[in-house]
Amino acid sequence: MEKKSKKTFYVTTPIYYVNDVPHIGHAYTTIIADTLARYHKMAGREVFFLTGTDEHGQKIEKAAAERGITPLALADAVVGRTRDLWKALNIEPDFFIRTTMAVHEKGVQKLFQALLEKGDIFKGEYKGWYCVSDENFLAEDVPIGTDGVKVCPDCGKKAVIVSEATYFFRLSAYQQQLLDHYASHPQFVRPPSRMNEVSSFVRSGLKDLSITRTTVQWGIPVPGDPAHTIYVWFDALHNYVTGIGYGENENQFKKFWPAQVHLIGKDILRFHAVFWPAFLMASGLPLPECVFGHGWWLKDEAKMSKSRGNVLDPYTIINAFGPDPLRYFLLREIPLGLDGNFSHEGFLHRVNSDLANDFGNLVHRTLTMVQQYFGGTLGEMEDEGADDRAIREMYEKVKASVRSHYESCALNKALEELWTFIGAANKYLADNAPWKLAKDPGRRGRLARVLWTGAAAIRGAGHLAAPVMPGSAVRIWDLVGESVSPQSVLFDDFRFDGLRPGREMKAPLPLFPRVDLKEFLGQEAKPAIPSGEDSAAVPQPNEAKMKTKETPMDIITFEEFKKLDLRVAQVIRAERVEGATKLLKLQINLGTEERQIVAGVAETYAPEDLVGKKITVVANLKPAVIRGVESQGMLLAGIKDGKAVIPFFEGDIPPGSKVQ
Ligand SMILES: [Zn+2]
Repeated sequence: MEKKSKKTFYVTTPIYYVNDVPHIGHAYTTIIADTLARYHKMAGREVFFLTGTDEHGQKIEKAAAERGITPLALADAVVGRTRDLWKALNIEPDFFIRTTMAVHEKGVQKLFQALLEKGDIFKGEYKGWYCVSDENFLAEDVPIGTDGVKVCPDCGKKAVIVSEATYFFRLSAYQQQLLDHYASHPQFVRPPSRMNEVSSFVRSGLKDLSITRTTVQWGIPVPGDPAHTIYVWFDALHNYVTGIGYGENENQFKKFWPAQVHLIGKDILRFHAVFWPAFLMASGLPLPECVFGHGWWLKDEAKMSKSRGNVLDPYTIINAFGPDPLRYFLLREIPLGLDGNFSHEGFLHRVNSDLANDFGNLVHRTLTMVQQYFGGTLGEMEDEGADDRAIREMYEKVKASVRSHYESCALNKALEELWTFIGAANKYLADNAPWKLAKDPGRRGRLARVLWTGAAAIRGAGHLAAPVMPGSAVRIWDLVGESVSPQSVLFDDFRFDGLRPGREMKAPLPLFPRVDLKEFLGQEAKPAIPSGEDSAAVPQPNEAKMKTKETPMDIITFEEFKKLDLRVAQVIRAERVEGATKLLKLQINLGTEERQIVAGVAETYAPEDLVGKKITVVANLKPAVIRGVESQGMLLAGIKDGKAVIPFFEGDIPPGSKVQ
């Protein structure tokens, strides 16, 4: 993935346990993989994207026995849930591996046999905590209780120590080789914090690993010793090689192995960054380039109890919004290595602000005006001006930067960067005001140029967004009259100025409908972030309707902070703004002058509440017109549940005093 010259790209997800109901967490990993796969295809690489299901083990065996069917029949019946979810999310793996497939079982046995002959697998005695009721050894990391006994995490009964014959993998022999590999390949485990975790675990000493059980029947039998079943990780991890044809389709296997990235949840890091490379070293196979341990999506318990369904059921969202808003949200909201908190409020904010307001509006306005002013066809245009060139040049810069973020798996940054372009394109339209140009018959050429630039911007943004939002990108390209899918055009081949006058465009359809939280959840809504002009708790300048950057981690210097001229102001008069339920118009005394500001505080304060009060105002903010009323500054307020709470000065401080 690091090497741009690499001609192939192989990405995997963990195989999901078939008995689990797939949730947002599974969806997250698989959406990342699908996005990377789509990106690398558009970058001109030959791509293989593998996902699948882990179908062996005792849970399946027991559940099947309870229903009186075979484990395979049960797996067949439930594997569809996972595949259906991927379909609903527009996830298109190149192959879906099931550990019950012959290609996998044969491959695992072949690898097992070779290591047995080599001596890296040997027969010994396993002693461990055993749950009699579940007929199962407890995992090594189940803690010992205060009475010195381990308790079965599945049934809660006390476990006993049992010995049985087992096959071991000689993990201890690979300790130094693993440490050497980590040292020479610092990108092998990402993010770097996880690498530290892994190498300190290995440094603390590796024990040989029991990889078979006689107590589990439903699995791959040990070749020549069928009383033993190959256990969990030795079976499951090898899907990454059998899934691309190890032992069966050697050409394909050689073409794609080693993988560029194994995407995993951080809970299974040890298996992927310690056991798996050791298995591969033993087999003489090259190691994957990177094991990427992404964070978890946590659910917000408080909000969950209020909602109607299960917050984390992806279908709640897919059914209401389609797949792209969920794909966008999960990738945009957090960097790949960190945990995120999933809330419907956060989700709807992103949908309304980034998708409906920013991107959706850009598409809608542009296409509406092409319809209105040119009957749906791009008109003959005058030469490019400085403004137009700036947008075109910005696109090329943003494209380069978006691509480098896709290359390094920084998907949130890729989207953040793309949205700066969408914001700039919105501002370009606002600045050039085509609706004004349209009134002047002598400026048709200019009008055509502005709308051409708008159309080029949405086509270009659609192209860059395609890996994350494939369905929406296809719709956008269809609207601008493209007969091909954006994903069929390589990044290197895409031209921003590929549209010609005479190109027919379609009338806009709503791409990302704005959704009200209350309607969505059917409950008393408390929008996390107010949206729209008249609900802005603190008014924003009109011309900068693009979203303010929300990067809580952004640090500004003291020099930057000093640019803000914060002053104490005293409210002289206050009145409501007609037609706006949330706005008050305030006349304020700034010491040396009187000014008028508009503030979205009418839901918390009556006009008379504010008269005489001393507040904090940003005095050097560019004036803006809000709901037809000029605002020469902005007051500062806290936001609670979307409503403003203004801090007032109590003491004897004259208007105009500096606030710092
Ligand atoms: Zn048990």
